[in-house]
Amino acid sequence: MARIAYVNGRYRPIDEAAVGVEERGFQFSDGVYEVVKFVKGAFSDLDRHMARLGRSLDGLRIAWPMTEKALRLVLAETVRRNGLRDALVYIQVSRGVAPRNHLFPKGAPSSLVVTVRRPKAPGADEIENGVAVCSQPDIRWGRCDIKSVSLLANVLARQAAQEQGAREAWLVDEHEGVVTEGSSSNAYIVDREGRLRTHPLGEAILGGVTRSVILEMARADGITVDERAFTLEEAKQAREAFLTSTSSFVTPVTRIDDHSIGNGHPGSVTRRLIELYNNHLVAC
Ligand code: PMP
Repeated sequence: MARIAYVNGRYRPIDEAAVGVEERGFQFSDGVYEVVKFVKGAFSDLDRHMARLGRSLDGLRIAWPMTEKALRLVLAETVRRNGLRDALVYIQVSRGVAPRNHLFPKGAPSSLVVTVRRPKAPGADEIENGVAVCSQPDIRWGRCDIKSVSLLANVLARQAAQEQGAREAWLVDEHEGVVTEGSSSNAYIVDREGRLRTHPLGEAILGGVTRSVILEMARADGITVDERAFTLEEAKQAREAFLTSTSSFVTPVTRIDDHSIGNGHPGSVTRRLIELYNNHLVAC
């Protein structure tokens, strides 16, 4: 089945779908995005994704391209036209199409593009053995809480990680000396005292939807959660480490740079959270 994209009011085969060259997302990265999981015929955590989209749009003063209710219908229809029961749905909203000028255009409607792809849950090998991450300097702008399409620093970090044989880059804020998050995921450790640690919310990280779900489930399960940043050194000495995102679920991390984490295998807290998250997805 040909992949179908929604672009500004029309459903088109992906190879024919296009935006104009004066699209501000293309010219200035002047837009935001969301990625939502569709699991066994239903969206998971859609309310949280819509709330974050609203915060990202507000943060950049971009108008909703349509009502939230209409957007939900477009998402469902795009998935339906692609004939998928499991999908990752990408939503991009930009400040629209207008003659090039840094200033906000007057009267240009926001652009909306929706595409879908097949999800790829972590494989059995990744769940059993974990993945490697490598540290990279966090050179991003100061509003990482906005899910902006401006991903250049993330792209460079992820490419550097790949070239060093790692699955993800863990970004280090060199002023604060702490790990903020991954290039496209949130970062966690279980420290020497058994506490689940992750960088607190704020402008330095994207508040992951998976992060919010995982922390709620961890607390409800009696795991001590400490939203406190950790250094790269603390990460290397941690009992356990893992990362989360909508597209990579909960993925164990067993190597950071040249250091093996814990006993080199995913730990019990990580395995418990994988189980809880999988149950959550089924229940959604
Ligand atoms: N941080 C960054 C920088 C990301 O790009 C992502 C993935 N969009 C995340 C964290 C995880 O967010 P979520 O759990 O909502 O996918």
